[in-house]
Amino acid sequence: DLLPIRRALISVSDKTGLIDLAKALSDRGVELLSTGGSAKAMRDAGLDVKDVADVTGFPEMMDGRVKTLHPNVHGGLLALRDNEQHVAAMKEHGIAGIDLLVVNLYPFEATVAAGADYDTCIENIDIGGPAMIRAAAKNAAFVNVIVDVEDYDKLLGDMDQHDGATCPKFRRKLSQKAYARTGAYDAAVSTWMAEQLELEAPKRRAFAGELKQTLRYGENSHQKAAFYTDGSGRPGVATATQLQGKELSYNNINDTDAAFELVSEFDPANGPAVAIIKHANPCGVAVGATLVDAYQKAFDCDRTSAFGGIVALNQPLDVETAKKIVEIFTEVVIAPGASEEAKEVFAAKKNLRLLLTDGLPDPRTPITTYKQVAGGVLVQDKDVGTVAADELKVVTKVAPTDAQMADLQFAWKVAKHVKSNAIVYVKGGATVGVGAGQMSRLDSANVAASKAQRMADALGLDESPAKGSAVASDAFFPFADGLLEAAAAGGTCVIQPGGSMRDEEVIKAADDAGLAMVFTGMRHFRH
Ligand code: 5GP
Repeated sequence: DLLPIRRALISVSDKTGLIDLAKALSDRGVELLSTGGSAKAMRDAGLDVKDVADVTGFPEMMDGRVKTLHPNVHGGLLALRDNEQHVAAMKEHGIAGIDLLVVNLYPFEATVAAGADYDTCIENIDIGGPAMIRAAAKNAAFVNVIVDVEDYDKLLGDMDQHDGATCPKFRRKLSQKAYARTGAYDAAVSTWMAEQLELEAPKRRAFAGELKQTLRYGENSHQKAAFYTDGSGRPGVATATQLQGKELSYNNINDTDAAFELVSEFDPANGPAVAIIKHANPCGVAVGATLVDAYQKAFDCDRTSAFGGIVALNQPLDVETAKKIVEIFTEVVIAPGASEEAKEVFAAKKNLRLLLTDGLPDPRTPITTYKQVAGGVLVQDKDVGTVAADELKVVTKVAPTDAQMADLQFAWKVAKHVKSNAIVYVKGGATVGVGAGQMSRLDSANVAASKAQRMADALGLDESPAKGSAVASDAFFPFADGLLEAAAAGGTCVIQPGGSMRDEEVIKAADDAGLAMVFTGMRHFRH
């Protein structure tokens, strides 16, 4: 599988490092083939180079539009060297194998950035370069493809490790990078063309995925919007089947995703769970003995906010739950399936959107998330972090009871899906107060406490359900005040990452208040 490099084709617009590379290759006995400008530069440096024109039997023509687009080049890049027919074809047509392709493309992006006119930009769309890169990358079993000046030394390093050959893993890495480059290149061309055409923003970008639908508008009615699938086919809002109801809006999709992602944290094997979402934050989450029981508990947490909410289930919708849901106005219900009777119940509510999937999104799938910022894009792994029960560290004099521990872990899972700063009160497998998106942790604790009091008022309870609750904080308490607020509201145990400068002060406050507290060692910011 080690592949000695005997013949290289070099065609580069950016000639940085070219001569050093060409000399190093030549010293290692590699034959050099090249296109006009690159060949000239190498010859000027005293190197022995063969012109691609001599290989193709055609001169470079049409302002360089046609240089390397020829079977003698592409056959040399694409032939499988261990395939008899391919080898026979090479022999019959006098095609010699190319083991190494070094290309960097016409500087399209830089030409656009420099404000060049339309025709100059068009002329700077490289055609032969990407064609060769894609061919060589497809044939990584036999061909090395370098698209980045930074990789010249890595190539020579790998060759020197393997006596002038390269290893398959190295070639596969090069191949992946090569397709990333051609993909980005075409995306840059398409984006520029969209700008020339003054297309609406959501239709401009060349996404990796496919356009699923053009939305009526975005977050607000003056914003244009569209919805793309990412091609993964993973269960979720993008691949769900809509059984009934009005067309989904941008906000519906965003909230439905938040709801389904949250409820999927609760393994259906451990029982039914329901999440109700408003504006991407949970206004009620619960597990229950039955699905309808879980729904009722989730609904009770914040009946006011649940109006017009988005409901996600971790199990197929059954008829009892369907009947309960239709009692109030709900925007969307998403579930991994539904019984026929449940569908009939919903059918009477024409506007209610019902989305069904083949399963739950796996909260452990390590996908990448993107956030646009001015002049750039922030890229990160999705927050798939979890903390197992035995990783929780008890830091107070009292340890949580088993029942408290269950509620703490429940609260922690919910807090991960609440906009920061997040404070979540939980009792008996259900949220009883959610404080989301405040600029101080103390404010979030306050909001959660006042929500719990409103729950008591709405349900006619004698005392706030926050009394005796488990409290989760998505990040550490920087001061004791937020913790004391939670204790004042009735919290008796706390789960939080720990790691504050004032941990000692916070732990002491917890001890003084008789709280049990555990540290997760992991934070769940969500902005
Ligand atoms: P050189 O400076 O060597 O004359 O040209 C190098 C550039 O030509 C590279 O950026 C390479 O991607 C590009 N190139 C190579 N073959 C072709 C082709 O057949 N058509 C076009 N348009 N560009 C090519």
